[in-house]
Amino acid sequence: MTTTHFKNADWIVAWDEGAQSHTYIRNGDLVFTDNEITFVGKGYDGAADTVIDGSDLCLIPGFVDIHAHPASEVFYRGIREDHSVPEHHMTGLYERSCVFNIEKEALKYGAEVSYADLMMSGVTTLVDIVFPYPGWTDVMKRSGMRMYAAPGFNTATWYRDNAHQLKYRENIAQGEKDFAAAMELIDELRADNTGRLNGIVSPVQIDNNTDEILVESHKAAKERGVPWTTHASQSVVEFNIMVERHGKTPIQYLADLGLLGRGTILGHAMVIDDNDWVRWHSETDLQLLGESHTAVAHCPTPFMRYGTTMQHFGRYKDAGVVMGIGTDTIPHNYIEDLRYAAVLARVASHNGHAASTADVFHAGTVGGAEALMRDDLGRLAVGAKADIVVLDGTHPVMMPLRDLLASLIHSAAERAVKDVYIDGIQTVKDHQCLTLDRERGLAKVAEAQPRMEASVPDRDYLNRSSLEIFPLSLPIAGD
Ligand SMILES: [Zn+2]
Repeated sequence: MTTTHFKNADWIVAWDEGAQSHTYIRNGDLVFTDNEITFVGKGYDGAADTVIDGSDLCLIPGFVDIHAHPASEVFYRGIREDHSVPEHHMTGLYERSCVFNIEKEALKYGAEVSYADLMMSGVTTLVDIVFPYPGWTDVMKRSGMRMYAAPGFNTATWYRDNAHQLKYRENIAQGEKDFAAAMELIDELRADNTGRLNGIVSPVQIDNNTDEILVESHKAAKERGVPWTTHASQSVVEFNIMVERHGKTPIQYLADLGLLGRGTILGHAMVIDDNDWVRWHSETDLQLLGESHTAVAHCPTPFMRYGTTMQHFGRYKDAGVVMGIGTDTIPHNYIEDLRYAAVLARVASHNGHAASTADVFHAGTVGGAEALMRDDLGRLAVGAKADIVVLDGTHPVMMPLRDLLASLIHSAAERAVKDVYIDGIQTVKDHQCLTLDRERGLAKVAEAQPRMEASVPDRDYLNRSSLEIFPLSLPIAGD
């Protein structure tokens, strides 16, 4: 047994079980033994193997990122930030998915980079949604993160042969094969002796799966007591296709199949029936989500770049929806996403009180934990896992340090993240990731990105080049 004692920390964000909320402790102590927190409060006088002087340090719980695609998204840096397709009600998702193919061998380097970035922005638990690739298990294990691997499967894939329609190529046998392989991988990870690896059952998109496989996979999740996630109500395109197929909104369709409820996480449940972009007549979706305590992975960044957003975080929270935050795209900077979640809720509602700094911090910690059905994550409390983020309270962008969460979320973001412990083991030290080789990963990603772009004309229905579809922000002089 090894005991670590943070002595007299300037600030601690501790969990108040009675109030079911976080609270500040000033000049307090936090102690963990092996992978579990054993003391949070003032004046610890027990023994410890290591004592860390907490003056100028601030301790917060590690963030729980409930929706990310770390292996692939980093390949789209410089490509997707301005990409938006008007015929698809502004989402660029379908066009990108159709024209890009990342080499399977390169994906592990994407994960190496993104896992490091996530930890360096305070993420300790991660839902990683991806079609499995070589080396995935190895990089998950090496990272030291608490992983919820979501090996994806679909019974159909998207394609395009004109600007305005999204079409589907069905391959049910492939989907079933990938579903079986996903369950095998989840079972294998859950048997890992570190206890940090877990799984989440993930038919990737609602519109790319049959009713049968959605129901069957949800049953498989329930049998194992693991969560289930899919992309649903993520775009106007998908909303309209589901209405056309079923006469129901995506949320109503999931409700009728019995797939809403605790343990279900929807990315991103944003285009629901009363959203301005669709204005469908029914107006039942939010109630269905809230009354069933379904979790929503709110990922502000990709959508705000298209000019869209959830309407709105505060309303969802008040309806009873379990709100969690995901990074989804690049950059993998969790704290910036918390900031956007708060700000966009206020913009969407024309109400400065629609989402407070405390609300989004709650979503990023215990909200995500609740979505994953965990009461030992996302909080600094006795008995919780030792997933701890240490902030530098003297960083210039944290000061004056009158209100820790306000300084962190609205000013400093990842710049204040100094050290990270996951399961009691340090993975970030002095702002650097100890477990992964971020530089090597970045070099490999940078090498593979042009090869990914080179195959775009063969995959695009108009045979356009990558530069034609995704021009640079400025032309290069002389070209
Ligand atoms: Zn996603």
